Amino acid sequence: MVRIALAGNPNSGKSTLFNLLTGSNQYVGNWPGVTVEKKEGTYKKDKEVSFTDLPGIYSLSPYTLEEVVSRDYLLEEKPDVIIDVIDAANIERNLYLSTQLAELGIPLVLALNMMDVVKKNGDKIDTKALEEDLGCRVVEISALHKKGVDHLIEVAKEAAIEGKKAEKITYEGDIEACIEKIYDCLPKLKEEGASRFKAVKFLERDEKLWESYPMTPQERENLDGLISQLEENLDDDGEGILTDARYNVVSEVTKDSVKKGRTGESTTDKIDRIVTNRFLALPIFAAIMFLVYYISISKVGQPITDYVNDNLVEGGIQAWAQGALEGMGTADWMVSLVVDGIIGGVGAVLGFLPVIACMFLLLAILEDVGYMSRIAFILDRIFRKFGLSGKSFIPILIGTGCAVPGIMATRTIESDQDRRMTVIVASFLPCGAKLAIISLFASAIFVGKWWFAPLTYFIGIAAVIISGIILKKTSLFEGDPAPFVMELPEYHMPNPGNVFRSTYDRCKAFVIKAGTIILLATLAIWLLSNISVKGEFHTFDDASTHSILSAIGSLFAPLFAPLGFGDWKAVVATFTGLVAKEAVVGTYGVVAGLGAGLGETDPSVIAYAAKTFTVVSALSFTVFNQLTVPCFAAVGAIRNEMNSSKWTWIAIGYQILFSYLVSLMIYQFGRVLVLKEAANVGTLVAFLVLIGSLYLLLRPDPKKKAARQKVQAAHESH
Ligand code: GDP
Ligand code: MG
Repeated sequence: MVRIALAGNPNSGKSTLFNLLTGSNQYVGNWPGVTVEKKEGTYKKDKEVSFTDLPGIYSLSPYTLEEVVSRDYLLEEKPDVIIDVIDAANIERNLYLSTQLAELGIPLVLALNMMDVVKKNGDKIDTKALEEDLGCRVVEISALHKKGVDHLIEVAKEAAIEGKKAEKITYEGDIEACIEKIYDCLPKLKEEGASRFKAVKFLERDEKLWESYPMTPQERENLDGLISQLEENLDDDGEGILTDARYNVVSEVTKDSVKKGRTGESTTDKIDRIVTNRFLALPIFAAIMFLVYYISISKVGQPITDYVNDNLVEGGIQAWAQGALEGMGTADWMVSLVVDGIIGGVGAVLGFLPVIACMFLLLAILEDVGYMSRIAFILDRIFRKFGLSGKSFIPILIGTGCAVPGIMATRTIESDQDRRMTVIVASFLPCGAKLAIISLFASAIFVGKWWFAPLTYFIGIAAVIISGIILKKTSLFEGDPAPFVMELPEYHMPNPGNVFRSTYDRCKAFVIKAGTIILLATLAIWLLSNISVKGEFHTFDDASTHSILSAIGSLFAPLFAPLGFGDWKAVVATFTGLVAKEAVVGTYGVVAGLGAGLGETDPSVIAYAAKTFTVVSALSFTVFNQLTVPCFAAVGAIRNEMNSSKWTWIAIGYQILFSYLVSLMIYQFGRVLVLKEAANVGTLVAFLVLIGSLYLLLRPDPKKKAARQKVQAAHESH
């Protein structure tokens, strides 16, 4: 068995290579820092070769979770060979990590990936010279275009069998002399595995190693003296000395072997000059996201959805099933179960699949092309002004597919405060399931109102920013934002394979959910709406008014009346939304059939929603369901990432309170301003909420004030 580890910088193509080699389906994302866990797989062409896809890293220091995972794996599991996947179009930056991998004492092969880009740019890389300078094998590949990959594995296998370590990279005299003396200080070190790596890390004053390495107090003191001496001589700290030394090695090596073909700006630079321009960036972003929502909901999704709903679900399948079942003499309740419960509920949800597929397709294209990482970059610039970390935006943008992976992606955020805050707000943007709710109202209430669907997206972003500012000023979230360095990947044409797979996977998940969770939820809804509070079962026409379901809904209805949806059906739909947000639509699908009597009026879920909502209450209802506690699956993910019940409850509590107050304001102000109704107590309450929120938003940060006072007091006492 040959065990191969794939290491490299984020976005260098490790997952693409891993998928190609193992035939698996790892997430390939065109932004840095999505894979935190290592993934295992065996070679498609030879079961005796196994691969581990490590998280992307820039260095082997122990600062970030990705670095710790990769480093522990390499040191403890000791793979037979490391393939260092390098984005050859940015070879200088990528080789920095290689200098550290070469020190581990494990055979190393450099895979120069993205050679297609290198060729297109007209760059020349002399692999022979690289091999000589770095003392390890170098292979050119293109993972995306499946070039050179078999050869790479042959070379890696040879290297593993030979077992020849990468030749040591030598630094300048003083540093090398110091490393030699480190060996003298710690006599056992030389015999251990990864001895050079450890010696260099001691010099770097690597915290983890200093803490965990067994040494006597005397040895520790000697070592410290030795390194302090070098630090004094070179007037820098250990870490800085090594960073410089490594960059020197890299520039020495690339000086001879890399010739940049292009001078001046690349296409990516040119595009970025416009797209990330200080003034144009936001309008462009707004326009693009507007188009994504507009196209998927109004232009492509809607007509297909309407067609499916009108002709297939209710007109076709529902009527056909009813006819067929009645023809067979099936009991009335059974007909209702199938027609209203299953077809009405699940059908209503599936009816929105075209909208969702179109949206996922457009988002996948934007991501693969490289635009989504620009959005994180652009929003970071704004967020940073308020002292918040821009790293939060990648999880939030991933959350526009589904909140669960979005919440999981927060793992890459080092600072606890920033991570917790991101977990709380990561589900604010509309996910695929919430899109079903938005589409329902786009068809039922906001017909021809092109701004409605994009509006929900921008409300989501505003909710993230406002929550960030408000929460950051509370004592729960102290501390400065974590530094955020983000590489912007080069733009490239969308890869149909990536785009298609990502769209397909998400649509598949949507359909599976409709057939399982949503099916169960709508069956429960159907049952509860057909059993009366006295425990009798009946499917009379106005069952709705006496059922258990209506009793539950009516009980909580007063709570939601100030938000404009104190109707028991809307309340029940909101509750079932906790199971999965599609169930909101599913529930409406079931209750729409109740009491209407098929064929009598128009029983479709869209027509039904149109009857029971106004423009204002529909917006309030949509926004409440968008911002409030996400589905149970996402709450589970929140619990996992928070790893604390206290913080899970804080998250849930905040989401409920925030969504409630926002919807309250939307409904109360909308009622007066749009529907021209008279102002009342509710309006007054909403007004007070608005004042309160503005205060929380605009007040100076109390922690900063406290810090200033401390400094002042210190000045005065002197
Ligand atoms: P990872 O972060 O290292 O796992 O990188 P991914 O495998 O997720 O790839 C990052 C991006 O680079 C994706 O958009 C890939 O399609 C793209 N990519 C990967 N390999 C190549 C390649 O050989 N050529 C080009 N042009 N793009 C590639
Ligand atoms: Mg990856």
